[in-house]
Amino acid sequence: MNNITHETKLTLFYIFIAFSFSILMRLIWVYQFYGYEAFMFNGQFMINTNDGYLWAEGARDLLAGYHQSNDLSAVDSAASRLTALFAYILPFSFESIIFYMPVILSSLIVVPIILIAKTLKNLEMGLIAALLSSIAWSYYNRTMAGYYDTDMLNIVLPMFLLWSIIWAINTHKNIYLLITALDILLYRWWYPQSYSLEFSFFGLILLYTLVFDRKNVYNYKLLALMLFAMMGMETWIRSILVITAYLIFRNEKFDKYIYYILAASIVIFFASGGFDPIILRLKLYIFKDEVLSVNEGFGLHFFTVMQTVREAGKIPFETFANRISGHTITFIVGFFGYIYLVYKQKIMLLALPMLGLGFLAYFGGLRFTIYAVPVIALGVAFIITEIAKKLPTAKMQVLFQITATLLILYPNYLHIDGYKVPTVFNAKEVEIVTALGQKAQREDYVVSWWDYGYPLRYYADVKTLVDGGKHEGDVNFPVSFVLTQPQEIAAKMARLDVEYTEQTFTLNEENIDKNLTLFSNIEQMTKGFGLNNTNDFLLSLETEIKLPKKTRDIYLYLPYRMLNIYPTVTLFSNIDLMSGAKGESPFFYISRNFQELNDKIVLGQGVSINKSDFSLQLGNQTERLRRFVKTSYTQDMNLQVDEQLIDFSAKLSLIYMQNYGTFLLVDENTYNSLFIQLMVLEKYDENLFEKVIFDPNVKVYKLKI
Ligand code: MN
Repeated sequence: MNNITHETKLTLFYIFIAFSFSILMRLIWVYQFYGYEAFMFNGQFMINTNDGYLWAEGARDLLAGYHQSNDLSAVDSAASRLTALFAYILPFSFESIIFYMPVILSSLIVVPIILIAKTLKNLEMGLIAALLSSIAWSYYNRTMAGYYDTDMLNIVLPMFLLWSIIWAINTHKNIYLLITALDILLYRWWYPQSYSLEFSFFGLILLYTLVFDRKNVYNYKLLALMLFAMMGMETWIRSILVITAYLIFRNEKFDKYIYYILAASIVIFFASGGFDPIILRLKLYIFKDEVLSVNEGFGLHFFTVMQTVREAGKIPFETFANRISGHTITFIVGFFGYIYLVYKQKIMLLALPMLGLGFLAYFGGLRFTIYAVPVIALGVAFIITEIAKKLPTAKMQVLFQITATLLILYPNYLHIDGYKVPTVFNAKEVEIVTALGQKAQREDYVVSWWDYGYPLRYYADVKTLVDGGKHEGDVNFPVSFVLTQPQEIAAKMARLDVEYTEQTFTLNEENIDKNLTLFSNIEQMTKGFGLNNTNDFLLSLETEIKLPKKTRDIYLYLPYRMLNIYPTVTLFSNIDLMSGAKGESPFFYISRNFQELNDKIVLGQGVSINKSDFSLQLGNQTERLRRFVKTSYTQDMNLQVDEQLIDFSAKLSLIYMQNYGTFLLVDENTYNSLFIQLMVLEKYDENLFEKVIFDPNVKVYKLKI
């Protein structure tokens, strides 16, 4: 008895050490930026992941008790609900809760790791693996302070699942039946895409049962409970099924019915659509084209975001290894260590699904590496403890384990120390967005690029057309059009897109059971104007067309930082939707790193301006400039624009934004775009727009039409 208490105490002590270590390492970023006002809002650091603002918006609305229909607020998401709960019961500010939630929750990963090691009678292995996992490169990146996203529990929950199935199979205790099923319910609630890992675990247990342990009724109970937890039904129904089945299974006199219950669980599982996510997945992979081309109508060709994310194929092995373990050697030792561990402890085969998912990263999808982190860490830790065992004295054993652990942790510490990611917005931008929120109604729309969608909704509580989750080619098209086309047609498109977006929501609600196929806004607009070619429709915007009835205000949010992605923004509307042909790329060159010499200004990359005659040097070619424009702020922060027309037949214009230290070299289309005219030059048509907030960081306009 004494022995058990000692083991339990040691387990708790190791968990405490590893948990504290994980938290302290995540405070390095906080320490580095302590007092840096640009990263703070309401006296707390802001978060550093764009998607986090979606959960934050949902939690804010849950706490407020209301939100606007079709404002895309994530009030139903697990992340928002858990956040709202914490904000409700804890005495900290909302901003502190979302900033520190990943720090605390992700550090829980040390618990299942140490518990798994406990069942293998090797607690030191657990401690070493927990320390490494908690700060391993990719796990840290996706769970650091302020990385407020579902990742904070995405590895913790499957590790608890792994722990409970290992303990279930090792001990055959009834309680682990329940814990396994509850963990699946929780994991699925938190992260609906979790089914692939759950199915893999299920498959392995099924295989294990059929091959090694066919007669054991416990295994069938475990399988049946897992199926009940994974069904295609509401969480509460599944919870009731799970608890009922558990209560029956606990009572051995019902054991003779287990095969009927298992059969029932299989039938209900398939009948309820429990297998549908897998079928959908397979369809997406195998019948790729079929699924994506069911769209009839005009069959428009939109530019997809995937085309801009050139995450081409494989990642280098070193990156892959670093992200999993912090160093190539650690990774290789860990990999063979895991194989050796499996050889010694067959039960660890159950960790294969996590390792497999992690290794998928090698073939594309860097984000998957985090799944392999704890498994490889257990492998390294096992090798370290095995070597230690061979050493002659206890003192040498301890010394070796400490040294080896520090060595594997060190590269990861270096990574953390150098990983100085900024917050999504800076304090000044948030101040502007908050001010915009005071002026705008909650039903109003703010039009901006999708990168700013979630933060705009969080800080201003407005509606947006595009955001971090809604940015397919067809929804990006009108927004890209608004930002990159001349003011007049851009203004009309903004009004059209907002009104069509709202109309589509209403149509969807009215026809919710009718399986109505709704086409892209741009296709609906074209048809609405009695045309059957989107190009004709876009041309008609230049004429006097009748706009839909104005139901709300529209604001344009134009941040200076969008200049960096302007060429990407153009891609989505610089395409012939009917044929799919891409338009000519705009000429857009930005330089912040220029050098002034006696006779010329060198902008870099072979581009320079001759001071004497304002001619442009592009490599060996000399070209005339169309115009030279200089913008600067007066003392009372009014923008002054000096425009010099040089050669009306030339193509390119040079804009010098003096206070920003920025040169822009652009063609005529870019020069006339809404973004350049309204953000850079403040040359807005007063019939179309009205000034709302003019700040060097951001210009906000209100649409008048
Ligand atoms: Mn709202």
